[in-house]
Amino acid sequence: MKISVVIPLYNEGALVTRLVEEVCQHVKSIGKPFEIVCVDDGSTDTTFENLRKTTKEIEELKVISLSRNFGLQAAITAGLDHVGGDYVVIMDGDFQDPPELIPALFKKITETKADVVSALRTSRAEKFGKRFYIKIFHKIFRNVSETGQVEQTGNFSMLSRKAVDAVLKFSEQNRYFPGIRNFIGFRHEFVEYDRPDRSEGSAKMNRKKLFALAADAVYSFSKWPIKACLYLGLLGVVVFFLAIIYTLVSKFTGLAPFGWSSTFLAISFFGSVQLTFLGLIGEYIFRIYKEVQKRPIYIVKKIFEADKEEKENKSSKKQ
Ligand code: UDP
Ligand code: MG
Repeated sequence: MKISVVIPLYNEGALVTRLVEEVCQHVKSIGKPFEIVCVDDGSTDTTFENLRKTTKEIEELKVISLSRNFGLQAAITAGLDHVGGDYVVIMDGDFQDPPELIPALFKKITETKADVVSALRTSRAEKFGKRFYIKIFHKIFRNVSETGQVEQTGNFSMLSRKAVDAVLKFSEQNRYFPGIRNFIGFRHEFVEYDRPDRSEGSAKMNRKKLFALAADAVYSFSKWPIKACLYLGLLGVVVFFLAIIYTLVSKFTGLAPFGWSSTFLAISFFGSVQLTFLGLIGEYIFRIYKEVQKRPIYIVKKIFEADKEEKENKSSKKQ
């Protein structure tokens, strides 16, 4: 039985060596064979260099370097594609997902025979603003998602081989890993923890990336945007119907001449409703277009393993 750990990394040079060492130490304590697969998501700092150096000390480390920054979700997919473990941990590489929790995840998954064990945040230590909009997103998403969603869980989880294979069947471009993990079903268990703030540097999922991810999550896992349009459209019909009655009554009773304000209001009301719908339909078309293009989700530049590199060096010396 083998355990794999997938860690997506983007410009985490300052902490990556310590991170891999700690992950190694805690996974080792389980006493099973393991591998740590770090995905360098096109970092522009010392992340790759530091990982490369660490492969000399930790032979279980494998580094997958992507050709550019493809984003967190793509990096997770790259990692999952390249692991061979029977149990796979997915975790952020900034100490917000504490490595010391890995043995607890393993204990839970083997004891309960679940296929998915997620780390459930009982508290978060990030700044108030970020906590606030993350909370709002989770509240909305839980209510609109078709598969139901567990609040207070992120990427940090352990999956069985069966669950990983199910996740890998998803070929969609607009990905949201916690949503997919929920979609696949199976028995899902939880381990509670307090989520600390990142140990160093600034968040690599900036606000723009986070909001884009939230939109991907909502569009992929709910009909809610298009449904909201339908309801707004129906409301428009009701308003229109009332306007007809008002117009006819005014015409036949001769109460008041029909002024420009009502006409103007009606035109702008329907105009804006239609524009909103067009924008929203555009959003769907854009997503369909992205899916139809079937572009690769990520592109690997180099895979780096201590063994392989040494072997390569030896063979090149022979030549
Ligand atoms: N990350 C990545 N690619 C990106 C952005 C982030 O691989 O384009 C990694 C990052 O290095 C970290 C994890 O994803 O290991 C979570 O990122 P971050 O801590 O910025 O997210 P947050 O905790 O703010 O949600
Ligand atoms: Mg983080």
